[in-house]
Amino acid sequence: MSQSIAVIGSGFSSLAAACYLAKAGHQVTVFEKNNTFGGRARQLKKDGFTFDIGPTWYWMPDVFERFFGDFGKKPEDYYQLIKLSPAYSVYFGKNQAITIADSLEKIKETFEQHEKGGAAKLQKFIDAALDNYNIAIKDLVYRPGISPLELITPKTAMKVGQFFSTISRDVRAAFKNPHLVAILEFPVLFLGAKPSNTPAFYNFMNYADFGLGTFHPKNGMYSVVQGMVDLAKELGAVLKNDQNVTSILVDQGKAQGIEVNGTQLFFDKVLSGADYHHTETLLPKNYRQYSEAYWTKRTFAPSSLLFYVGFEKQIQNVEHHTLFFDVPFEKHAESIYDDPKWPEEPLFYASFPSKTDDSAAPIGKEAGIFLIPLAVGIQDTPELRETYFEKIMTRFEFLTGQSVKKSIIFKESFCLNDFINDYNSYKGNAYGLANTLMQTAFLRPKLKSKKVDGLFFTGQLTVPGPGVPPSLISGKIVSGLMDQSIK
Ligand SMILES: Cc1cc2nc3c(=O)[nH]c(=O)nc-3n(C[C@H](O)[C@H](O)[C@H](O)COP(=O)(O)OP(=O)(O)OC[C@H]3O[C@@H](n4cnc5c(N)ncnc54)[C@H](O)[C@@H]3O)c2cc1C
Repeated sequence: MSQSIAVIGSGFSSLAAACYLAKAGHQVTVFEKNNTFGGRARQLKKDGFTFDIGPTWYWMPDVFERFFGDFGKKPEDYYQLIKLSPAYSVYFGKNQAITIADSLEKIKETFEQHEKGGAAKLQKFIDAALDNYNIAIKDLVYRPGISPLELITPKTAMKVGQFFSTISRDVRAAFKNPHLVAILEFPVLFLGAKPSNTPAFYNFMNYADFGLGTFHPKNGMYSVVQGMVDLAKELGAVLKNDQNVTSILVDQGKAQGIEVNGTQLFFDKVLSGADYHHTETLLPKNYRQYSEAYWTKRTFAPSSLLFYVGFEKQIQNVEHHTLFFDVPFEKHAESIYDDPKWPEEPLFYASFPSKTDDSAAPIGKEAGIFLIPLAVGIQDTPELRETYFEKIMTRFEFLTGQSVKKSIIFKESFCLNDFINDYNSYKGNAYGLANTLMQTAFLRPKLKSKKVDGLFFTGQLTVPGPGVPPSLISGKIVSGLMDQSIK
């Protein structure tokens, strides 16, 4: 039976759910507080430059294919995908970078150069990662996180040990070269926790990295948002921006609708893709499932300090994606997770989309995005942002052997206060709730409210977790709970 459904927020999970629910015949209306759609994946345009404000790494192309395939479409019906070659590079010191090529065979050669026997060990490591990828991404992550039994299959029963070992331990058991170790530990940073606190089973991220590769959608990640918005509209969903939802209406334990910009609107069901903690604050206290103490005890994925920089010249000695791992990882990670504070010497990541995509910057110029992962809940001031910009630019110039500060046309920044103000993010988190062992699958906040009938949740704080592909999956899983005809 067709129902009216209000969707709060327009992140990837909300957009995905809007598509599935509209296709199943429901009347879906999306309410987004900001003036553009896409949630954390918005776009900044300035003086002929274009930047993705949020995600920049397009991994797991098969998940996007499966999503569009569910509607009889392909990603290329909506955007053009470019495989990055090389995928990325990682700086460990001045003029000392390891470049990751676009195929496993070439990456094996690189590993062999840095560690004797590295090629064979990498093949073995990636074979195991592929096995987990097939179990996790083709099956497990599509389960709703209701019961621990979902995780128990004949295939996972053989791998119990991998839930109790960590990525860090397994990588170090196989490789000794610290630079190769850092490269193999990097992919799980997308899951929001330290590699030493991430179950070894998540090595399927290494298969996503080396086995499948890194892609760039032409015109940036925002073109995926635009594709999903177009698809949702084609399927009959209505999308509204500048719609700040201020409460979820409940009567006798049943969701009745929402209040938006001071007006009450009535719906059969409500689905929220806004941050879970914020969504519960829209409810009367007795209808909230999780206490403040619960949220305080969670391990949140990091926040970030981001800069979007227009350079008047092209930047040398960098790839489209370049990581700066020239300072100790453990010390920076401590200041994110164990003793939250601004790191003394931050690792950082830089992206130059104009290396691949001429729509990102005017001819002869370069668009640069810089990201420093930070703890959630720490202070954010203009002075701190400036100090850290200076820190990383000085290191950037030293490591890549060029001067760039004099070539900056403009820079814009985004940090904790913006995550809170723009997205109602809990403590300014960027990537939601980390995928630690105790925050995996059925141990994550639930998709269906236990206290309010007809209220559902989706997004990076729910199952399966942080990242664009998991958000697409989250939107599909919750739709299946709301309408069992959706498979
Ligand atoms: C800086 C950054 C870099 C990242 N890099 C990558 C990457 O390279 N690759 C990758 O795969 N993932 C990356 N991620 C993670 C990925 O972007 C997220 O996991 C994903 O976009 C989250 O989607 P979501 O559906 O959970 O919702 P969100 O994107 O969080 O969207 C929630 C929406 O709800 C809206 N909202 C909140 N409150 C209300 C309200 N009261 N009323 C109406 N609307 C409301 C918000 O405005 C927002 O639009 C990155 C994230 C960030 C922040």
